Amino acid sequence: MAIAEALSAPVRLVKGVGPARERAFSRLGVNTVEDLLFLFPRRYEDRRNIVPLSSVREGDDAAVVAVVQSFESRRARNGSLPLAAAALTDAEDGALFSLPVRAVWFNRPGFTLLPGSRVALYGRVESGLQFVNPEVEVLTNSPPEVVGRLMPVYPAASGLNQHFIRRSVAYALEQWLPLMKDFLPDEIKNKHAFPSPQSAVRELHSPTGDREAWLKARTRLAFDELFLLQAGLLSRKMRHAAASGAPVRTALTAQKTPACSVSPSSLCGRFIGSLPFRPTGAQTRVIGEIARDMASGVPMNRLLQGDVGSGKTLVAVAAMLMAAEGGGQTAFMAPTEVLAQQHYFKLKDRLLGARAALLTGSLGRRERRAVTDAIAGGEVQVLIGTQAVLSSDVEFRRLALVVVDEQHRFGVAQKNALLTGSPLPHMLVMTATPIPRTLTLSIYGDLDVSVLDEQPPGRKPVKTRVLRSTPAAMEKILTYMNEHLGSRGRGQAYWVCPLIEESDKLDLTAVLSRYEFLKCALPRLRVALLHGQMHGAEKQAVMRAFADGEADLLVSTTVIEVGMDVPRATLMIVEDAQRFGMAQLHQLRGRVGRGAEAGMCVLLAGQTSAEGAARLRAVASSTDGFKIAEADLRQRGPGEVCGVRQHGLTDFRVADLTKDRGLLEMARSDAAALLESDPTLSAHPSLREALRARGSLELAGTA
Ligand code: ADP
Ligand code: MG
Repeated sequence: MAIAEALSAPVRLVKGVGPARERAFSRLGVNTVEDLLFLFPRRYEDRRNIVPLSSVREGDDAAVVAVVQSFESRRARNGSLPLAAAALTDAEDGALFSLPVRAVWFNRPGFTLLPGSRVALYGRVESGLQFVNPEVEVLTNSPPEVVGRLMPVYPAASGLNQHFIRRSVAYALEQWLPLMKDFLPDEIKNKHAFPSPQSAVRELHSPTGDREAWLKARTRLAFDELFLLQAGLLSRKMRHAAASGAPVRTALTAQKTPACSVSPSSLCGRFIGSLPFRPTGAQTRVIGEIARDMASGVPMNRLLQGDVGSGKTLVAVAAMLMAAEGGGQTAFMAPTEVLAQQHYFKLKDRLLGARAALLTGSLGRRERRAVTDAIAGGEVQVLIGTQAVLSSDVEFRRLALVVVDEQHRFGVAQKNALLTGSPLPHMLVMTATPIPRTLTLSIYGDLDVSVLDEQPPGRKPVKTRVLRSTPAAMEKILTYMNEHLGSRGRGQAYWVCPLIEESDKLDLTAVLSRYEFLKCALPRLRVALLHGQMHGAEKQAVMRAFADGEADLLVSTTVIEVGMDVPRATLMIVEDAQRFGMAQLHQLRGRVGRGAEAGMCVLLAGQTSAEGAARLRAVASSTDGFKIAEADLRQRGPGEVCGVRQHGLTDFRVADLTKDRGLLEMARSDAAALLESDPTLSAHPSLREALRARGSLELAGTA
């Protein structure tokens, strides 16, 4: 396709772009001409209103057209920059009527203006009615470029100034825009009265000033992105559905009432019967939903949302046992080694004969080999581990189920890494942070959602207090701990040290010094230390000691953020709490109050803005994880909160998932309708081509 290829020409073909600028463009993600056409302005400067010189005011950003009355320039001397200065008037004979306005430029060697010439200027008017380093253009007969329009302001990159980017874009618009193809089927374009992609691209670079037209243009281009994404995901889904079906078809027959679909004599039923408590209604319902999925003959693709402490692990175990009963294996992936270890030790003796193994990065070569052999040979039914379970030396004999715990801590590629081969395994991803539908739609195309909306009985909400981090507050906490922890009060506590961004080393220093301090300050208590840089076996020993009640206080980095389940722990202290996201604080708080005793959480706040303090108060005043997550999403955006940064969702050039939800739904239903009528897209070659170019063409029957 020569035309499609034309736009994939390297940006180096744009006039004036040499190797250095090519590298600078590449830092902006612009490698091809098409990338350049889709490098849209971050904002526009409104230079439409050209004002007479006599009305410019100090402090304004002004656009003017003027006549150069005089010009002088001065070389650099004793440390000062070269300077060029012009006196400007409104008209050729303007000096008679108005005071001249000055313009100065620093460090522009060789720059001159001829007296009497007409110029357009745009810039800030500083004190003494003087433009400083304004943009300037000598006017000929053609209309001015630097004033009289909405001026695009592009993302900045070193080595590229705005002027150069504008010139390059203009060049690309002229040379290549006409070659751009419209892949959207006519019926869809007409239905929404979309403009052509060419005119939409042009409108975003140089808006006509008509707000409606600009919005339509933006909508069109955002729709294109969302539509391509959905068409790709949906066609893949169709292909999966058409493929050979699920790996394990559980023996359970799907019944009308989900609660009854797990027979008491099945492995899963016996496991539930063996528990010291009864599953909550929500757990029973969700286990039923999973049983039906796994009996359906189509790979399950299910998201399990449940607030911290709602008992997601039990549901996952039920699913594993269903898989095991059908002769399949499960990969159970947790984000941290500490959590993987915890799951392993809690589960290994409770799986009623199904065998579990633990695989993390810190296993020795020989141990690791033993585990991978047992998986390949099918002797192990449940492999619990970190992302180490994704390594290439792990080969399952019959992988039937993938469970991802705390899914927001994984990248999308990791989550999907095991979803290969035929038949595809079932997939269950679990999270305490609700994922907005826009995201589940865009990452997974589709995902059935189960919700654990009920806490096990007897839970008391964790009391949360926000304290300013002062010596007095510290004193109070120490006294409290002395009274309530250890032999006297029986309680256990976590002390989470400040999160120090992007530096494990600093995190380590902080946790070590806090550990030493607390050991001295609380001589009666048994204080333990846990951090991410400890060896696997050490972490394991510390966690077990804490879980077994052999330590009273666990000083830790955020390695304990998710999943840790030590029911006797009742107190959580979070230092420098303002550095954490709201959902994260809620997760941390969820580590306590998991047993019969009520939990308490203290958020120690260091220096923070009013807004930071408000966030802490918001966490303190709500125990509803979903509400907190929603607030967090609004604040930090979905990429941060739901762990989708790596996915490239932010790679959209126009669409914005926080704003374009309606558009996403529209794109999805249009894509679905189209694929239904033309599953192989044989009647839509340009769309096929566009999908193929994005690497997302997996059409049913054509892969
Ligand atoms: P999360 O949803 O945060 O992963 P867990 O699965 O770790 O929660 O469960 C939290 C705690 O609640 C565990 O100690 C677990 O044994 C206990 N638990 C789970 N389900 C029930 C239930 N139905 N009744 C009582 N305790 C339960
Ligand atoms: Mg959990």
